[in-house]
Amino acid sequence: MASVRLQNVTRRFSRDVYALKDVSFEIRDREVVTVLGPSGCGKSTLLRLIAGLDRPSAGEIWIGDRQVNNVPPQSRDVAMVFQSYALYPHMNCYENLALNLVLRKTPREEIDRRVQDTAQLLDIGELLDKKPRELSGGQRQRVAVGRALIRNPKVFLFDEPLSNLDAILREKVRHELKELFARIKATVIYVTHDQVEATTLADRTILLNRGMVQQIGSPEVLYQSPKNLFVASFIGSPSMNFFDTSLEAGSFRLGPQVIPTGLARSGPARIGIRPEAIKIGEGIPATVVMVENLGARFLINAKVGANSIMVLSENRPHSDSIKLSFHPKDIHVFETTTGENLRNSSVGDSGPSQPENSSVTA
Ligand code: ADP
Ligand code: MG
Repeated sequence: MASVRLQNVTRRFSRDVYALKDVSFEIRDREVVTVLGPSGCGKSTLLRLIAGLDRPSAGEIWIGDRQVNNVPPQSRDVAMVFQSYALYPHMNCYENLALNLVLRKTPREEIDRRVQDTAQLLDIGELLDKKPRELSGGQRQRVAVGRALIRNPKVFLFDEPLSNLDAILREKVRHELKELFARIKATVIYVTHDQVEATTLADRTILLNRGMVQQIGSPEVLYQSPKNLFVASFIGSPSMNFFDTSLEAGSFRLGPQVIPTGLARSGPARIGIRPEAIKIGEGIPATVVMVENLGARFLINAKVGANSIMVLSENRPHSDSIKLSFHPKDIHVFETTTGENLRNSSVGDSGPSQPENSSVTA
């Protein structure tokens, strides 16, 4: 297996169309990393560069201790699983699995042994003589994974492999992949636009937006200590509440209440509070506008003065007049123009330092 390192990698498609801009990160040997971001943020481009299917406009790509910028795809020892599965329709599953080994002139007996081993690992032994069109989406997806596995590469690249499956199957295959990753102990780079996939499958996530790395960290770090407004709004469901305010000596006003942030700062700022961090009971008076039953919980839209705030609660509010409270550690403060988290100086894998005040209540 191998580590993967990108150093200031840029991919420009025309004069001012950048798919990736100055991207740097290192993925350790045998680490499972997800690359998360909205459609068009550069995820597929990133994988294609690592696979060697495309070349960077600037920067260096390293696999293990080898700089691979000029190494052709077939010599990079990486295998990619595409969203479309990219199986050959005229070949049966056995032939699809075996193809790469055949092209490498691997002996017949070894090919057969590896096809059988791979089929057993993925539980697709029954499908080997079937053509792709005779398979369900989930089965095709497994054969596509098998085709990557059988090559025993240094690095696995997955490009949104679950996005063509329906919701229930997606969850099932996600669990299977997680188990598979643990079993094969491989270096895996897994691209998705789905934050649940990103956070459940990986030790670390690289969050991309507009071709730029926004933050790299464990799911917990991205959730608890977002570096900027983009990360804060992209991670977490339902989304974080935001409202613009003006800090006075670090405090802001919400309804009748003046709330300290612990920051020594005055002037415009954007406050962020997650719906699940807000409690109903004592505190700031609010008016219920709408309640959605999510099954296990209720999503409540409430107004505090002019601010519209979403609250995730175990219970349906018993009246239209409620009171809200939240802990000071759950208040995020962002620079309005740059979007930077104003607690950034202390944001790292250890998390931000927070004021020690008790819960905010009126
Ligand atoms: P993602 O996989 O995150 O949806 P892509 O990596 O496919 O994003 O694309 C990133 C950006 O680069 C998009 O704006 C896309 O339109 C652009 N792009 C990708 N490939 C090309 C290409 N061959 N020529 C021009 N622009 C491209
Ligand atoms: Mg893509």
